[in-house]
Amino acid sequence: MSGHILIVEDEPDIRRMIGVNLRHHGYRVTDAGDAAAASVAIAAEVPDLIVLDWMLPDTSGLEFARDLRERDATRDTPVLFLTARAQEQDKLAGFEAGADDYVTKPFSPRELLARITALLRRASKVSTEDTLEFGGIRLEPDSLRASAGGQQLELSPTEFRLLHCFMRNPQRILSRARLIEMVWDNDSEVEARTVDVHIRRLRVALGAAGHDRLIATVRGAGYRLEEA
Ligand code: CA
Repeated sequence: MSGHILIVEDEPDIRRMIGVNLRHHGYRVTDAGDAAAASVAIAAEVPDLIVLDWMLPDTSGLEFARDLRERDATRDTPVLFLTARAQEQDKLAGFEAGADDYVTKPFSPRELLARITALLRRASKVSTEDTLEFGGIRLEPDSLRASAGGQQLELSPTEFRLLHCFMRNPQRILSRARLIEMVWDNDSEVEARTVDVHIRRLRVALGAAGHDRLIATVRGAGYRLEEA
């Protein structure tokens, strides 16, 4: 696997440890010690994935993740959170801010590498498929683009995969367990509530294009893509 990874972490030892390990496995790595330096690096070259520490000296990682999702350049760049916080509320806050996965400190370099590789694979895996259309939504797996009435939908990689699952299974109830299997390939530690957070984000993105009722909640069963 190759790719360009941006590490945003203020602790030099951790930054170095991650960098050495990733370079050893063929990745190109750029370092940033805070959000401001990360922005400069992104302006120079948009990375394929961003490893983002929660606690940064200038902006919190949480705020920076939200900021990355607002920018055109990084809207669909996978973001992996590094956090010492293992509380469920904190994990959900990370996903709510637009992160695609997280690793809890302390972590092993091997674990981080596995999660990065899996996230990059997930972010690119839906390609080489035909365009899907349903309920006014058009999804192009090849280019990882989704639109509604010609208007581009602003989706993170995880939201794109989620929408892709629904578009491939229109009118069918998808349980949270099934969605975890399809969207996260069971290689993350996501829980049912994580799915709900991403569904909420996906609905907001769809709502911005006037399609807020496309994904229905089926009480006790899961979610279903239906014609409004
Ligand atoms: Ca830190």
